[in-house]
Amino acid sequence: MLSQRSLFFKHLAQTSPFPPALEILRAENCNLYDVTGKKYLDLISGISVSSFGHANETINKAIHHQVDKHLHVMVYGEYIVSPQVELATDLCNLLPPTLQSVYLTNSGTEATEGAMKLAKRFTGRTGFISFRNAYHGSTQGALSICGNESLKNAYRPLLSDHRILDIDVEDQLEFIDENTAAVFIEPVLAEAGIRIPQKEFLEKLRKRCTERNVLLVFDEIQTGMGRTGSLFAFTQINIVPDILLAGKAFGGGMPLGAFISSKEIMSVLSNNPMLGHLTTSGGHAVSCAASLAGLKILTTTSLLQDVNKKEKLFRSQLLHPSFKEIRGKGLLLAIEFDNEMTTQKIITRCFEKGLLTDWFLFAPSCMRIAPPLIISEEEIRTACETIVACADNL
Ligand code: PMP
Repeated sequence: MLSQRSLFFKHLAQTSPFPPALEILRAENCNLYDVTGKKYLDLISGISVSSFGHANETINKAIHHQVDKHLHVMVYGEYIVSPQVELATDLCNLLPPTLQSVYLTNSGTEATEGAMKLAKRFTGRTGFISFRNAYHGSTQGALSICGNESLKNAYRPLLSDHRILDIDVEDQLEFIDENTAAVFIEPVLAEAGIRIPQKEFLEKLRKRCTERNVLLVFDEIQTGMGRTGSLFAFTQINIVPDILLAGKAFGGGMPLGAFISSKEIMSVLSNNPMLGHLTTSGGHAVSCAASLAGLKILTTTSLLQDVNKKEKLFRSQLLHPSFKEIRGKGLLLAIEFDNEMTTQKIITRCFEKGLLTDWFLFAPSCMRIAPPLIISEEEIRTACETIVACADNL
């Protein structure tokens, strides 16, 4: 009999030459346990997903409750599926008046795809603009607006009407013109190694988009659901996008994404042709039940308020001469090292000591810190002590 590990490499399609191949038996709160019983403190949340902690009781209850009622009953948008309706209603109650129509998808990249189609249809234009080292997903449309050539080149031709700009370079905003359907930006660029555009730049971007009738899309797939200290990061800068993207933690640990816009903009998907954007399983009832429970946790507990306090604690504990910079917002942080080798070395050492960290897609010299938001002060101290110890004697 082959081991799980051998079967993993034999039958599961691989996308990287050396995955950690950690075999998880169970997970609880901020900890993962492997098959040997070794405990790992989770500083990455399965890449910004498990924000409410593993095996969260409230979310698990909501899932079980929905499973007992029904699973899939109809393709998206045809029947009244109450977890979808409740989720969209609760979400819209927390969003500005121009973001009141929610299209539910299975994943983040599908939210991007939907938003791209919506923008093309609403504006009648084909051009897209995004930013250097931005990541918006891996399907062909989303890949086309990826802000890093290394992931794209082998898959050309992709959508050609696309331009990459640099954040905080105001002169480049002139490229947003009458051919542009939409500008996509993460209010905090995550995979770029946590780069935060200046508020003034985002204000000018908003203004330019409005003047040229271009839709502004905030990709909050990674920054949403409290990760940066508010439900979505855009509320901290008071700039409202025309389309908002959600994903990852939005599903409370289940697969779910969304693109959210105004009723007026969204209405173009239902005529000429009707069924302008389709999904069979988008907004699955169980995912929506989990998401709704997650949203309730965020609005009824102190989890959100504690995010900034926890960020401060991380920053106060992460002191070492080899840390070039700590960047980020809330519990989405990056430690920058001299080079990629150093980062990999520290990630490996942390792993051996039972601490799960990672790097970033387009910033290999940076280490990712994005723990479940429920992480305790004691766990933060332990994690920081481990990272600091692993940075000695490089
Ligand atoms: N946008 C951003 C900002 C992301 O971080 C990601 C995932 N890393 C995506 C889109 C794509 O989401 P998914 O992997 O669910 O398709």
